[in-house]
Amino acid sequence: MSETALDRFVRYAKIDTQSQEESETYPSTQKQFDLLNLLLEELKGLGVQNVSIDEHGCVMGTIPGNVPKNHRAFGKVPAVGFVAHVDTSPSASGKDVQPQIIQNYQGGDIVLPGDPSVVISEAENPELKANIGKTIVTSDGTTLLGADDKAGVAIIMTAAQKLLANPSLLHGDIKIAFTPDEEVGAGTKYFDIKKFGAAYAYTVDGDTPGELNKETFSANLAVITVRGRNIHPGSAKGIMVNSIRAIADIVARMPKEIAPETTEGYEPYIHPHALEGSEAVSTLKILLRDFHTPGLETLKGKLEEIIAEVRPLHPKAAIELKTIEQYKNMKDYIGDDSRVLDCLAEATRRAGLEPKWVPIRGGTDGSRLTEKGLPTPNIFTGGANYHGTTEWLSVWGMEKSVDTVVHLAQLWVEKS
Ligand SMILES: [Zn+2]
Repeated sequence: MSETALDRFVRYAKIDTQSQEESETYPSTQKQFDLLNLLLEELKGLGVQNVSIDEHGCVMGTIPGNVPKNHRAFGKVPAVGFVAHVDTSPSASGKDVQPQIIQNYQGGDIVLPGDPSVVISEAENPELKANIGKTIVTSDGTTLLGADDKAGVAIIMTAAQKLLANPSLLHGDIKIAFTPDEEVGAGTKYFDIKKFGAAYAYTVDGDTPGELNKETFSANLAVITVRGRNIHPGSAKGIMVNSIRAIADIVARMPKEIAPETTEGYEPYIHPHALEGSEAVSTLKILLRDFHTPGLETLKGKLEEIIAEVRPLHPKAAIELKTIEQYKNMKDYIGDDSRVLDCLAEATRRAGLEPKWVPIRGGTDGSRLTEKGLPTPNIFTGGANYHGTTEWLSVWGMEKSVDTVVHLAQLWVEKS
């Protein structure tokens, strides 16, 4: 008997693959290789061809196309890729994850056994309703679950197995990649698009069943550095310039109505994200996010206005602002081959779900791959509440995602 997507997911979830910000190495943590190397072997075991891992941890493989010579589409089907990331977010522990499988979910709040103060509430999770009578997976409440994105990994592995086991399902070359370090914004830093060899790709890294993504934020990181002057507080009168006071005045002026806590949908935000400081130097990192890329300049302009207002209050402090580009809205780069989105929507329908295009208030590996020339929209996995201890996974949603991937592979033959 072949392994189900759920079996695979539970095995992968137990392997600690947390990535880490500000690491000196790539991948950011060596333990990600535990899962990457396992996937390397499992792909070979399934019969996937040209399976490889590079020094950066990226695993790749190919399921050769099986369109027969006498078929209309022979030689015309582009190579289509599927990508998922193995790392889990640094925001919550990913060590000793104990997946809890709730069969025949009866509705209501879910209290997690490892920490009863952690509750997946019906009120905050309207998606739970669609899972009554079905199977749900949660953590024990002390860690995240890692459905982001081990559900995606399990979905791609299961779809690969189905395609390989059923030669009557016609497809072109299918390219598979598993990447590290997505959660720390570096998933595609060393991704070799040429070696991957796909003309179009899909990340399997979304959430609610039926939800598809072709738009992401455009993103810049703003860094404000304030330099003051430190001296022993006992003899500081008239001499000390405390950078903390200036940075606090800046933080206090951040617009509360353009914040992640107060916005949704297509609304942009300015998000003070990390703060570090002492008397001599303080640094504030701010995330600037807008679906409309030129809007990032408007957001930067607001920071410049704030700085202009604070400068006269701290005339001896040096305040500096710089911005670093992070990623761009994939919509601007996805190109004009409508098949990449049409096939995905149709595959979702064939899996029995109504496709729903939702803008992602964040970025995906696909944002960067698309900008670099490989159009890569995103497919749901069935997961929810990512990056925290209330993360949960709809097994039904995960199975629908497997069906979507299998239909998608075949639709590219129909549309070629
Ligand atoms: Zn993810």
